[in-house]
Amino acid sequence: MSERLYIFDTTLRDGEQSPGASMTRDEKIRIARQLEKLGVDIIEAGFAAASPGDAESINAIAEAIKESTICSLARANERDIRAAGEAIKPAARGRIHTFIATSPIHMEKKLRMQPDQVVEAAVAAVKLARQYTDDVEFSAEDALRSEPDFLCRIFDAVIKAGARTINVPDTVGYAVPHLTTEFFRKLIEGTPNSDQVIWSAHCHNDLGMAVANSLAAVMGGARQVECTINGLGERAGNAALEEIVMAVRTRCDVFDLETRIDTTQIVPASKLISSITGYPVQPNKAVVGANAFAHESGIHQDGVLKHRETYEIMSAESVGWSQNKLTLGKLSGRNAFRTRLQELGILPEGEEALNAAFARFKELADKKREIFDEDLRALLGDSGPDATERYRLISLKVVSETGEQPTANLVMGAQGEEHRVVAHGAGPVDAVFKAIESVAQSGADLLLYSVNAVTAGTDSQAEVTVRLSLDDMVVNGQGADIDVLVASTEAYISALNRLTTEAGRAHPQA
Ligand SMILES: [Zn+2]
Repeated sequence: MSERLYIFDTTLRDGEQSPGASMTRDEKIRIARQLEKLGVDIIEAGFAAASPGDAESINAIAEAIKESTICSLARANERDIRAAGEAIKPAARGRIHTFIATSPIHMEKKLRMQPDQVVEAAVAAVKLARQYTDDVEFSAEDALRSEPDFLCRIFDAVIKAGARTINVPDTVGYAVPHLTTEFFRKLIEGTPNSDQVIWSAHCHNDLGMAVANSLAAVMGGARQVECTINGLGERAGNAALEEIVMAVRTRCDVFDLETRIDTTQIVPASKLISSITGYPVQPNKAVVGANAFAHESGIHQDGVLKHRETYEIMSAESVGWSQNKLTLGKLSGRNAFRTRLQELGILPEGEEALNAAFARFKELADKKREIFDEDLRALLGDSGPDATERYRLISLKVVSETGEQPTANLVMGAQGEEHRVVAHGAGPVDAVFKAIESVAQSGADLLLYSVNAVTAGTDSQAEVTVRLSLDDMVVNGQGADIDVLVASTEAYISALNRLTTEAGRAHPQA
């Protein structure tokens, strides 16, 4: 039997720290359910001390998920550990992941602590965390730029204090593969009782080597890798889960390790993350890019048709690529609708939510002949107008004519009041956004406006992402509709609503 490699997914924590990738509680729960289906061992659900909203999200995920361990990040201080401990309480299996910086530059310049004080704080944090759960992970932030001797010392101390997983993060993406293998070997050899814990890698992609370094760490003895779907994460991102999992599986001759991942859930997970965060996947991205299994050259096509293995090292089906399936249409009933949502893992909770989604489905089916899985995903992602939100779209009329300036007539709800405005713009979308701003007057900057066709065909739904920034905050809003202008309006309004709930969150750098 091959040894086990544990997959620790941090899409909801490190991934969420990408600018504008912050997610609502419900979006996080949807992602957590997909990660559970995917079979990840540990879901890092957030950083409880960041804000009450973060703690609440972790709590809700801990309630909803039964198969995966639910983890909260915590700095090595009492307030953070207690917040994490409370947040994971409902989990069937809960973990606290506490960290402190160990590199000379971080200890001196950031923490302003002596090495002895750092060890002391780490030990105290692990001991306190153990009062909440037996499953405690310790991370030495910026480990790859830390002194190996000091790392062995602090790891020895935290293992004695009760840590079960030792994480060695390359926080700044500085590592090189062959040295990473050596580094892990040295730490594992030099730390007393190193066989009592699981060693873990957490790599960032600043030099494009996050996956290579994670796999190098595995060669050096790591048995947990921390990664994210699509490699989402701050700056250049984290190691991509799909690449690590498929590398270990495809090259089992080299790694001889097993994961619990159901690889056919990889592409659905990738699409879900991409549509929720508004971060598109580049077409040539390994495993989950649209071209990852497309063979353009005639020689390749011929070879693949004769015998797939000539040019393909893994199959598209094995990672969850399937043909656009025509699933439902105008005449489909509520039962067929529910069954398909269940199969896709996007069934909303409660009859009321299902009824609302079914009503939106009927509306869409009136306008669009064929409804694909992607349409259903977009439909469920777009929960429709919510009366509790600060702003909402009531109605929209846009006039666009050759040689004339486009005009938007907008009726919009703002804090319970109805506003009617008319605005002109350089283009129709510009006119709509100006109309919204004349009511909201947020002063936010528009950082990104992107439109994606959900499926092929001119009657496809448009999925629009709007990224706004105001002061230090960056948020995304999404809208999906057959009418691209309606989708754009919804996306802008949803971003505005989010700006009001995003204030005051802290982002750690682990
Ligand atoms: Zn990180």
